[in-house]
Amino acid sequence: MSILIKNGHIVTASEDFIADIYIEGEKIKAIGKNLSYDVATTIDATDKLIFPGGIDPHVHLDMPFMGTYSSDNYETGTLAALFGGTTTVIDFILQTQGDTLHNALKTWKKKAKGNAIGDYSYHMAVTDFNNDVAKEVVQFIEEEGITSFKTFMAYKGALMIDDGQMVQLMKVVKKHGGIVTVHATNGDMIDSLVSKNREAGNLSPLYHYLSQPEVTEAEASARFLDMLHYTGCRGYIVHMTCEGALNAVRKATLRNQKAYVETCTQYLVLDASLYEKGFEAAKWVMSPPLREKKDQNALWSGINQGLIQTVGTDHCPFLWEQKEMGKDDFSKIPNGHPAIEHRMELLYSEGVRTGKISLSKFVEVSATNAAKIFGMYPQKGTLAIGSDADIIIFDPNKQHTISATTHHMNCDYSGYEGKEIIGKTETVLLRGKIAIADDSCLLTSGDGKFVKRKAVTENI
Ligand SMILES: [Zn+2]
Repeated sequence: MSILIKNGHIVTASEDFIADIYIEGEKIKAIGKNLSYDVATTIDATDKLIFPGGIDPHVHLDMPFMGTYSSDNYETGTLAALFGGTTTVIDFILQTQGDTLHNALKTWKKKAKGNAIGDYSYHMAVTDFNNDVAKEVVQFIEEEGITSFKTFMAYKGALMIDDGQMVQLMKVVKKHGGIVTVHATNGDMIDSLVSKNREAGNLSPLYHYLSQPEVTEAEASARFLDMLHYTGCRGYIVHMTCEGALNAVRKATLRNQKAYVETCTQYLVLDASLYEKGFEAAKWVMSPPLREKKDQNALWSGINQGLIQTVGTDHCPFLWEQKEMGKDDFSKIPNGHPAIEHRMELLYSEGVRTGKISLSKFVEVSATNAAKIFGMYPQKGTLAIGSDADIIIFDPNKQHTISATTHHMNCDYSGYEGKEIIGKTETVLLRGKIAIADDSCLLTSGDGKFVKRKAVTENI
């Protein structure tokens, strides 16, 4: 199998030029002007942008939550991701408190095996840390190629670990070249605000938002960064939403910490005024919640200032009937929304087209930095000789409208219904095979592979 992509406008995190790309098997073999090879397929990419396949570092496929499961599984989730140009996703394995990491890994391998259409990897969520789990952490890094460990500073009794466990985990992870990631919100504060609101009969989705004020995220982010500084561990804060938390990161950079930050498309594009829409606002019940316009501005600036390295989605869709579990009580609405498909197109349309970020910054935050931070670079996340041929051919001028009637995610609504986008993923290659062309997927279940990741110690 060989493919030649001609005359595309190639964009990487550091370069931007017109050239050809020659692909043989799963890899990029040559990049240059006027390449001439005897190939099976030639693609004319004149006037098109060529990006490395996107990496979404934060998705939840087939995830158990609040007595139900997220509605996209490995098949539908990675399919929708491919349609939007995301060729690799990193999902979260959840340890059951009192059980081993390996048992959880077995469960998640079953979910993915034979189902994934796009490539995937796992973060391991440590919800119960002790000496036995510490040994498993080392095995995960050295044998399984799973080098990132998610922690929760909220959801007490199910997912949360305390600060003592956090520090001990960081020490083990640091020693073996992994990274600790965190859902940084103050769980105790949020739980008490949720209780107060329920007692007062404040039960609409608006109170989900009002129970998680900015300070709950700013406080936990600062605490996590202090613990990282104390242990010297590499760390990563997932789904950052607000100015207050970003200010804590700004302080950490003055200490030259290896601390990275992810935000998500929805926090850049949507805002908390949506919570005034009655129960329809359940569509945007996620944690942390959407914030204010001033936070959007801080996040876009944070990307350009190098305080935020990645843009993910926290894709965790639930069907409307699942959302209705919380019709009479916001605290029973499953948290999450469908997002995996439009991450790159939204970031391009709202970020690059409006002049907020450059083309190279777009590639950095949608692919390259996630590959570097999580130990997949340069196999993934760039267009270079020897890299996996995960490639997007993108039409920068094509206009389209987001709608649940046309998206590929298994969800009967969209949080962006009717939103107009400029720029569309046209053709997608996954490891040298054409995955998406002419609005159809040419790959099938089981074509997606697990990406084994490396330990990383240096700064990106
Ligand atoms: Zn998440």
